[in-house]
Amino acid sequence: MDFLNLFKDEILNYLKGDSEIPIIVINSEGEIFYANNAFYSLVSNRVEVKATHDINEIFTVVVEETANSKEITLIRTDKHNSIKITGKTIQKEKNILVIFEDYIFNDDSITEKLTTMNIEMSNITRELAKKNAKLEQANKKITELLNKDYLTQVGNRKYFYERLEAMISYYKRTKNGKLALVLCDIDNFKNVNDTYGHDVGDLVLVNFAGALKDKLRKEDVVARFGGEEFIVILTCSDEEDVKEVAERLRKLVSKITIPGHDLTVTASFGATEYHFEDTVDSIIKRADEAMYEAKDKGRNNVVYKSRLDGTKNN
Ligand code: GH3
Ligand code: MG
Ligand code: MG
Repeated sequence: MDFLNLFKDEILNYLKGDSEIPIIVINSEGEIFYANNAFYSLVSNRVEVKATHDINEIFTVVVEETANSKEITLIRTDKHNSIKITGKTIQKEKNILVIFEDYIFNDDSITEKLTTMNIEMSNITRELAKKNAKLEQANKKITELLNKDYLTQVGNRKYFYERLEAMISYYKRTKNGKLALVLCDIDNFKNVNDTYGHDVGDLVLVNFAGALKDKLRKEDVVARFGGEEFIVILTCSDEEDVKEVAERLRKLVSKITIPGHDLTVTASFGATEYHFEDTVDSIIKRADEAMYEAKDKGRNNVVYKSRLDGTKNN
């Protein structure tokens, strides 16, 4: 007697209970007399199997007999599902115990479920991508709002400081780079407000900022430094070039017109170049001093103040 026969009762009890190996017992009437949980979970959702059902009504049963073993294959193909499971048999009296150690099945419903899940996943991914794009737009808008001057739509003071700090720290690190500042303050702007009203004053500020922005290169920075003061970071530092740009801006703003109002706008410009020993504060201070000198000299002019050469008038 081999050990399988020796422990047959124990093995059968195990198979009946928690075993993961599906088993059924087919009685002499060809009915499923017993099926364990593993069998039910293997075939459930695919075909409806009830104990006592005639197995031939549920499956096509193929019996393969060799000299010392007999195998039974159960096949069923529905519209969406197909199942084919083969089991080894043990015959006892007129009952046959079938043990399905190896089984294969092809389940369209699983494929369908996976396809549905995939579609859902890609829908969710698409929705997420849309939401991310919206979020990115919202973030861009927030950054814009944080950096822009609401009235004139050029950079605000915070933006100017951030850009200047970044440029200076980069230049200090790389010991390379050219930049210059031009600070412009509208002349007698209080008179504009007093004579034409605050709304016209606002329009002058908007047009002034627009004129600066239009005339400068993309890499230059234009920002509202305060009330009627604007500041420009130029990415060049040759004295002649900077003076030329500042002079061009001076002439440009004097052409600003406000429809329905006979007013002329002029501004005073203070310009200076970046020197490697400069800090953010020192270069701004020098531009400010140059601008005040331009005011002192009668307004509507450009003063260039070099760190090395002292004060120079245009
Ligand atoms: P100066 O030539 O010396 O620069 O004289 P100014 O009159 O331009 O200078 P002052 O500092 O005396 O006046 C600046 C004025 O700018 C006062 C303030 O009411 C006005 N101002 C500041 N911000 C705004 C604004 O957003 N809109 C308007 N309409 N006026 C503003
Ligand atoms: Mg001012
Ligand atoms: Mg002013």
